[in-house]
Amino acid sequence: MTTDHGYPAVRMYIAGEWCQGGTGRTAPIVNPATEEVIGEVPLATTADLDRALDAAEAGFTVWRNTPVERRTAILYAAADLIGERAAEIGRIMAQEQGKPLREGTNEARRTANTLRWHADDARRAYGRVIPSAPGTVLTVRREPIGPVAAFVPWNFPVGGPNRKISSALSAGCSIVIKASEETPATAMELVRCYADAGLPPGVLNLVFGEPAEVSEHLITSPVTRLIAFTGSVPVGKLLAARAGEVMKPSLMELGGHAPVIVCADADPVRAARRAAQAKWANAGQVCTSPSRFLVHESVVEEFTAEFVGAAEAVVVGDGLAEGTTMGPLANERRLRAMERLTADAVARGAEVRTGGERPDRPGWFFAPTVLADVPPDAEVMSEEPFGPLAPIVPFTGLDEALAVANSLPYGLAAYGFTDSAATAERLSAELQAGILSLNHCGGSVHEAPSGGVKESGYGREGGPEALDAYLITKRVSHLLAP
Ligand code: NAD
Repeated sequence: MTTDHGYPAVRMYIAGEWCQGGTGRTAPIVNPATEEVIGEVPLATTADLDRALDAAEAGFTVWRNTPVERRTAILYAAADLIGERAAEIGRIMAQEQGKPLREGTNEARRTANTLRWHADDARRAYGRVIPSAPGTVLTVRREPIGPVAAFVPWNFPVGGPNRKISSALSAGCSIVIKASEETPATAMELVRCYADAGLPPGVLNLVFGEPAEVSEHLITSPVTRLIAFTGSVPVGKLLAARAGEVMKPSLMELGGHAPVIVCADADPVRAARRAAQAKWANAGQVCTSPSRFLVHESVVEEFTAEFVGAAEAVVVGDGLAEGTTMGPLANERRLRAMERLTADAVARGAEVRTGGERPDRPGWFFAPTVLADVPPDAEVMSEEPFGPLAPIVPFTGLDEALAVANSLPYGLAAYGFTDSAATAERLSAELQAGILSLNHCGGSVHEAPSGGVKESGYGREGGPEALDAYLITKRVSHLLAP
């Protein structure tokens, strides 16, 4: 069923059934490229959440006792469906989030591969046998932690929810996930792939609602055993504190403000091209997006000229339009933030080299913007822009660049460009970040861990480490002849 805009009728998925909220309360969904309301998202009541929790409790017993071969087969089948439906998922994403069709379709394809990787890794959740006294068997078992409560934002509407779902299900956990109310149909289509692949009812439950109400209810319920969140630092702190009060572990994937250090010995043109490609992806709404450009004074002009050229080559438009390479901001909050951060930087003496304003058209568009000579006290140097804004700052010595890079309380991604092995080693050792890329600005890969240090959070997603949060470690010592 679709609305007049060709947008799906959004439903929650609880205990194996597609449903609307108990009271029929909904919130509007807006296409960020047109500002038109294209659909409604149902909002859960407490009774809906309780049904989801009961279902997850029952689903956990079923799923943890399902042979790993069978679990893997279902996850592989879901991955195949995500791959087959990638173009349709990409189309829905363009409508509700604004991402260009190709970018969204690729996100769905990558998601299918991530799920396959996690499904395989589920077979390797090994424990160990420890040498012990004769007649005693001392083992360490890895067991699923239990039902998970997960909360994910709107910037990767299929990849984001899937990181939580695929890790939880691979580990043998069940999950209640609250996806973003701003991008609900993509999450719904993702969940549909799991349902159509034969996942037993209750193992995966999808809800929407008032975020604070839903998180309070799910975190404090005795059913849930792990709280997994991706989003902003302030909300992460709130949820982690609440989880701590009820002594539940949490996995926190929060924001950052990624420095890019371009050294004097790096090729500034190559560095600018690679950094620009990452900067404008998803209109800069990526937690690892390069966002503070610290460029050696000897190459800063060459770097900036190439970077501005790349910004001006970006085709800004509706994600569904042919040729668009950057869509609108996903919501009006981000547009206002771009305007505020640009005005503040300019008022403090920065120079707009390109962009700096919204194009003259409806929709929450903002031009790719490059700011030069940004003073250290400009807000954009300490507040993650989470949008298409690139502040460039010249530096003289590497000590100074490292001090600026490490000066914020965040530490998610960092980037460095250098031709010197010694400098690369220094950047690797001294940059305070959970993810460091040298001489490129590539994105996350499912075979390696991603996560932050400092206020950017704790725990890792991706890589074999992804299962750690979802498994408990149990010591069992067995005296054979009591
Ligand atoms: P926000 O802080 O209002 O919300 C972030 C996410 O948390 C949203 O999905 C929201 O629905 C959810 N949320 C808010 N309050 C909640 C609560 N009490 N319980 C559960 N979930 C709750 O920010 P926003 O305006 O949506 O996004 C802007 C900022 O968020 C950005 O500046 C960026 O730092 C951060 N962000 C980070 C990521 C990431 O991947 N780490 C993704 C999206 C947004």
